[in-house]
Amino acid sequence: MTAVACYQATAPDQPLTKGTLDRRELRADDVMIEIEFAGICHSDIHTVRDEWGGCRYPMTPGHEIVGRISELGSAVTDFALGDRVGVGCLVDSCGECAQCAAGNEHYCETGSVGTYNSTDRVDGSVTQGGYATHIPVSRRFLIRIPESLDPAAATPLLCAGITTYSPLRKWQAGPGSHVAVVGLGGLGHVAVKLAAAMGARVTVFSHSLAKEDDGRRFGAADYVSTAEDGFHRAHRGEFDLILNTVSVPLDTDTYLKMLRPEGAFVLLGLPPAPLSVQPGLLIGGRHTVAGSNIGGIRETQEMIDFCAEHGITAEIELIDADAINDAYDRVVDSAVRYRFVIDAKTF
Ligand code: NAP
Ligand code: ZN
Repeated sequence: MTAVACYQATAPDQPLTKGTLDRRELRADDVMIEIEFAGICHSDIHTVRDEWGGCRYPMTPGHEIVGRISELGSAVTDFALGDRVGVGCLVDSCGECAQCAAGNEHYCETGSVGTYNSTDRVDGSVTQGGYATHIPVSRRFLIRIPESLDPAAATPLLCAGITTYSPLRKWQAGPGSHVAVVGLGGLGHVAVKLAAAMGARVTVFSHSLAKEDDGRRFGAADYVSTAEDGFHRAHRGEFDLILNTVSVPLDTDTYLKMLRPEGAFVLLGLPPAPLSVQPGLLIGGRHTVAGSNIGGIRETQEMIDFCAEHGITAEIELIDADAINDAYDRVVDSAVRYRFVIDAKTF
């Protein structure tokens, strides 16, 4: 065991504090990553504040991680010391079931292992995430980060990028399709950039017009404030795909009215609240309401390579570790532009 510096949550209503955590000795197929940057995802906040239940304290969050390999396990031959790599929301799965074989480690039939607050398959310990100086990770869960991408601004792609890329591919966003992105936060702003790069026409629905100039700069053709009564009327039947990235409950029926026949409303935001849908709005246009959870390792690498090819990174505010608690408050207030990334030198 090696003690490393970290930030950790000790209770749902307490600020995160500086501490240490024990990192395991490397297993044969592990590498040690010296972390350079860790992103703050709204899911970190839901977890730390126990809004989803099941948070095991003390807990170090962080599932958007970029750094360099500082140590190699004995069986690792396909990565080298100094390689820049990323880690997202997953650090293990069985590797043998049909889902793992298909590259869907996140749907592993025996349960995938999350980067934090999950149970390690080998020693039963609770996994601890990226708000720390180092993390050991199996080579099977590493993403290669091209040197052409700014490493700090690429960090949010490890969650926000794959979470939005995967449904855009699944529902075939591209030339001729019209995609709406609801919520211009961490996920939403990356979704706009990705969908525009894929060739889709993009409309943003935001709860004000405060970020309109940014939304258009990221690639949106239209920008709509949901604060206006009846905002949906001008957009009835318009969209093939609506990605909902909002972290609080929305009136789903309003969005279903804006789908084309056969269109899909896909939930990415995960507020801890039930969803209600008027059946007629589903049946009328054979609409789909779906959810989408991150993506597998192969698709995450594909997404990073797509981003490198198209010059896509997140818009970030780089902060020191002692600003994490203020950053959490700003994320909850929708005042982040557009993802906080922590400089790991300050843990
Ligand atoms: P974020 O940066 O906080 O963005 C959420 C956006 O939701 C805000 O920017 C805001 O957009 C909108 N919003 C927030 N409060 C609102 C309110 N009271 N009324 C209306 N709109 C509001 O969060 P994020 O990191 O992108 O994460 C978004 C959600 O996705 C979270 O619930 C997170 O847990 C979830 N998530 C899911 C997955 C997955 O695999 N499915 C992966 C990562 C995250 P506007 O200001 O533009 O309205
Ligand atoms: Zn996330």
